Formats: sequence, structure tokens, C-alpha cells
Amino acid sequence: MVVKINENYLKLKSSYLFVEVARREAEFVEANPDADVIKMGIGDVTKPLVPAVVEAFQNAVEEMADADTFRGYGPEQGYDFLAEAIIKNDFEPYGVSLDVGEVFISDGAKCDTGNIQEIFGLDNKIAVTDPVYTVYVDTNVMAGRTGEMGDDGMYEGLTYLKCNSENDFVPELPSEPVDIIYLCYPNNPTGTTLTKDQLKVFVDYAKENKAIILFDAAYEVFINEENVPHTIYEIEGAREVAIEFRSFSKTAGFTGTRCAYTVVPKELIAWDSQGNEVEVNPLWNRRQTTKFNGVSYPVQRAAEATYSEEGKAQIKEVVDYYMENAKVIRESLTDLGLEVRGGISSPYIWVKTPNGMDSWDFFDILLKEANVVGTPGSGFGPSGQGYLRLTAFNTLENTKEAMDRISKLEF
Ligand code: PLP
Repeated sequence: MVVKINENYLKLKSSYLFVEVARREAEFVEANPDADVIKMGIGDVTKPLVPAVVEAFQNAVEEMADADTFRGYGPEQGYDFLAEAIIKNDFEPYGVSLDVGEVFISDGAKCDTGNIQEIFGLDNKIAVTDPVYTVYVDTNVMAGRTGEMGDDGMYEGLTYLKCNSENDFVPELPSEPVDIIYLCYPNNPTGTTLTKDQLKVFVDYAKENKAIILFDAAYEVFINEENVPHTIYEIEGAREVAIEFRSFSKTAGFTGTRCAYTVVPKELIAWDSQGNEVEVNPLWNRRQTTKFNGVSYPVQRAAEATYSEEGKAQIKEVVDYYMENAKVIRESLTDLGLEVRGGISSPYIWVKTPNGMDSWDFFDILLKEANVVGTPGSGFGPSGQGYLRLTAFNTLENTKEAMDRISKLEF
């Protein structure tokens, strides 16, 4: 007898994108120790937590230090005070309810978007946009819903909805039937958005085809366009077909603090193998209560503070700062004649490489000649080939310096 591994893990591509980016960057820095490298690759925030959040965080830590106010395990789904604030501020007009437990607070949208597939059968057909936030793909590979990755960079059995300049980054409906569709808007990595009408096409498809949409709105706070929905529940009928994921990571600088939430409406149903309807909400509740023990009390108090008047104003300032960077990147690269997407309702700017250059070649040029680190688009899926992602999370000063350096390059 020997221990058998989950062979699905062996199907995963071994080299993780950001590992390779870091390796090339480290190699360059070692050979050029004096180079002033500006990092615009990884999508991590750089501004500290805002004062209102820090204060609430500290107060809650004090409560934990006092026997009278100390708290042990909290509800696995999160405290009502935070769920109430979330609903009141983000979802009240859309019928999301505290009473029936539709909001599940967690320690990250990465975990939630990765774990959600567990409650669905292995024989579901999955569709993802291409390029894609790779967590959706890899977690389905790990679960065994795909075959091997082909030479085209696509996993067998997965449906890829191409997004590139040919379709103006609006995915077409799947040409073959699918059961579950992952959508992320504002999009990582392309920074593009869908209008209400464009999103409605997917909601209507899901209703007609008894499919479910897994809608990742981690970048909602950056939306700056009138006709772009802030939640999928703005679309009529979405409560019957969609789960929404949100996060405080990019909204309020919680990447290192960890707090997010998932909305699973009561109306959402799937089917058992006998064709009986099964509510999805209790399944996610069961999954979370079995495998997750809740987010720490101080973190939930800190997250709650993002909804105070003070907190909202302070967060807006930070978001505006990042979006000023995004504008600088977008405008500078456009002036250079490069084709640029994103950066309007997103901290990501998706740049088409000049002259059809390979994503990694363009990455190397920017690193070696401008000392600027981006992320090669090809790492996000085959349709990302020929693109590079830049992020607006550096300082304004560095962002301007990076654009200045890039403008001196000859492509
Ligand atoms: N979803 C998308 C599309 C992301 O880009 C990210 C982080 O980069 C996440 C989810 C992860 O969010 P969290 O920090 O809440 O795990």
C-alpha cells in the first residue's frame, strides 16, 4: 500500500506566473544592483489602512484584552453587525436579506471563489473568460473537472470565453452548453467592465439554460462609469442565478488584514442527480460551517468601519489616489500610440504589446530598458498573449517616473 496523491494537482502548470515574474526581476536586480526598479506588476495595494479602520481595529483588540468583553469563536458566517452594514450599504435595494442569511463573511474572495466549486457536481461544464483570474481555473483543475492542458494553453473540458480587442473585451455567450460561468467585473486582468445590458445577456442565458453565474466583484469600488452595474443583482432575475463575491482587499487595503464576503441568494437553486431542486444557500452554509471558523472579531470590526461616514470618506481618498495613477498610465501609454484598456473603472491597465510582440518579450524590454515590472498577459490565459498588465497601486511619483521612462523607449 502507498499513499496516492490527487493526480489532478499534477495537471496544474508548475510555474506560477508571479513566481516567474519575481525570478526575472531578482535576476535583473542581481546583475544591476543600482537599478531603481518600479514595480507595477502584482495587484497588491500599497496605502495603509485608513484611520477610521485602524481605530475600530484597535478598539476591538482592546475588547479582546478585557475579560468582560472578550469573545471566543464567532458565527462561522460572520457577525450580524458586519452583515448588516454590508447589506445596508451595498445591497439593500436588491433584496439581500440578513434574516435568511444570504451574506457569508470570510477571510478572502480568493478562498471563496476557489472553494465555491466544491458544492457543485464534478460533471458540471465550466466556462471562464480568457484571460482570467487563474484561481477559477486552477481550483476546477484540482477538483478534477478538466483534462490536461493542451498546447494551446487551454485545459481540456473547460470552456474559454475569449476577451480581446476583436470583441471589444465583451465575452460572447458560450457556443456549447455550460452550467457554471465565472465572470469578474471590473475585470482582473483586463480592467474592462460590462454595461448593465451586456451583463443582462449573461443573466438571461443563465436563466434560460439553468446555469449559475459566479460573479466576482472584488474591484467594485473602482467603478467610475454610469452604466456599469455595481452588483450583478442590479440585473433583474440575477438573484435566481448568481452568487456574488466581494472583498475588502482592494476596497479598503485589506490584502494583509483579510476580510471578504459572498452573497448567496435564497432563490438560487441547482439540481440533484434525480432532477430535484436543491437550494444552494444551505449548501454553502454547510460548507462554511464545516470547514471555516469565521473571521477574527477585530478584523470584522475594522471592516465595519469602512462603512462609517469617516471611513467612507477616507477610503474614497485612497481609491481616488490609485485612480489618478491609473489615469496617468492610461493617458501616457495612449499618447505613445499603444492600445490601452482598463484604468477607468479599475486599477488595472491592459496594454497591447507593440508590433504584436510576445507578452514576455515586452515584459523583458520594460524590465531591462525602463526598469519597470509589469505582468505578462499570457500568464492569465491564451487570449492574454500579446498584452501586459500594469497596476495603479504604486505611488504617483513612481508611476509618473515609470511612464517617463517608458516614453523614452523605442519599440
Ligand atoms: N478576485 C479577484 C478577481 C482578484 O483579483 C483578487 C486578488 O487579486 C481576489 C479575488 C482576491 O481577493 P482576496 O484578497 O479577498 O482574497
